[in-house]
Amino acid sequence: MTAIPQERRVVTAIPGPKSQELQARRTATVAGGVGSVLPVFTARAGGGIVEDVDGNRLIDFGSGIAVTSVGASAEAVVRRASAQLADFTHTCFMVTPYEGYVEVCEALAELTPGDHAKKSALFNSGAEAVENAVKVARSYTGRQAVVVFDHGYHGRTNLTMALTAKNMPYKHGFGPFAPEVYRVPVAYGYRWPTGAENAGAEASAQAIDMISKQVGAENVAAIIIEPVLGEGGFIEPAKGFLPAIAEFARENGIVFVADEIQSGFCRTGQWFACEDEGVVPDLITTAKGIAGGLPLAAVTGRAEIMDAVHSGGLGGTYGGNPVACAGALGSIETMKELDLNAKARRIEEVMKGRLAAMQEKYPAIGDIRGRGAMIAIELVKDPATKEPDAAAAGALAKACHAEGLLVLTCGTYGNVLRFLPPLVIGEDLLNEGLDIIEQAFAGI
Ligand SMILES: *Cc1c(COP(=O)(O)O)cnc(C)c1O
Repeated sequence: MTAIPQERRVVTAIPGPKSQELQARRTATVAGGVGSVLPVFTARAGGGIVEDVDGNRLIDFGSGIAVTSVGASAEAVVRRASAQLADFTHTCFMVTPYEGYVEVCEALAELTPGDHAKKSALFNSGAEAVENAVKVARSYTGRQAVVVFDHGYHGRTNLTMALTAKNMPYKHGFGPFAPEVYRVPVAYGYRWPTGAENAGAEASAQAIDMISKQVGAENVAAIIIEPVLGEGGFIEPAKGFLPAIAEFARENGIVFVADEIQSGFCRTGQWFACEDEGVVPDLITTAKGIAGGLPLAAVTGRAEIMDAVHSGGLGGTYGGNPVACAGALGSIETMKELDLNAKARRIEEVMKGRLAAMQEKYPAIGDIRGRGAMIAIELVKDPATKEPDAAAAGALAKACHAEGLLVLTCGTYGNVLRFLPPLVIGEDLLNEGLDIIEQAFAGI
């Protein structure tokens, strides 16, 4: 394997001619419902760089949506997954088990918050993990209702569409959705009517009141929340919100589920984002960053809750595939060896410093938020009215792409530019990416 030079290089228009050719073939054969942020076809990727088929090298501020935290061709991931591929690709853990699956569950028990006895089950995608967390919680409590939050995102399967807040593009035209799902407010500090300082206490009181009065706490199997909301706009629930909701769940026998699919595995500068406020979830769902790009997901939690399900009640043909498990072990090894939590915190320091300076010049930046290498800016037409400016987010993303910087947007109002660099990105590339963002502001 040749390491990819960690240098931005733009040698054609973006997308270039080879990408455009491939895009034409793609349009003819790939379903139109599957979108792409940037139709640049990938040749190879690693570190902080994605290289396309035209020889352009893009700075990666996306990590394939918070997946390749260790890089897209991390040495330990490639080594371990390749060795596993040569040994065997699949037996199905439900037919004849293998050690890698057990090792991943041991690592999850060690790394997730809380020192209680824990067990895990492995799956293929984040949505599948969330679905299974709901199955486990219902089985354990004998209750049906599931509570989720404004701006929440939990996946694209039928149940997880119901759990997801935003209609377009995730839910539009795809109903009917699963029943017994209830949505309550979240402490979105920037947009909380009485100010960010009141958001934690007021939003948690409102949420708890709605759950108690409209659903009935005794009917609720699970409360599911992202400790930092991802697709909804990198919203960090205001201080006090998560602990209040977790406490309410504990008092009422409700399974508290932290969906750390995007925020977990060093992304926010901790193994898991809920550690910031000392919240210990009953169940935690993980995916994305867990396996360096290989498809793997997990539900981890209190042993007595996980074991409430009858034997054979959890599983799936490919869940915890041996190659994906090997990838996860390589990814976790890399995170520990390179102390990627510290790297994520350093990325936050650099990014927030630079973005704060940009905000002084460009008032369209209404809010700078996020933790670790999960940082976003919310764009507004006027900082006084906070009217969302989705067009600005789109124009900035486009300008960055043209210069060879891969950035993503998100947010309920589509007005958030989010930055998710691989945690292994070099600081020079990080700063060069920020230079491009600054130039993009000057140009819009
Ligand atoms: C991406 C995501 C999911 C869904 O994961 P998939 O692997 O795409 O099914 C669920 N929850 C959160 C918080 C996510 O960011």
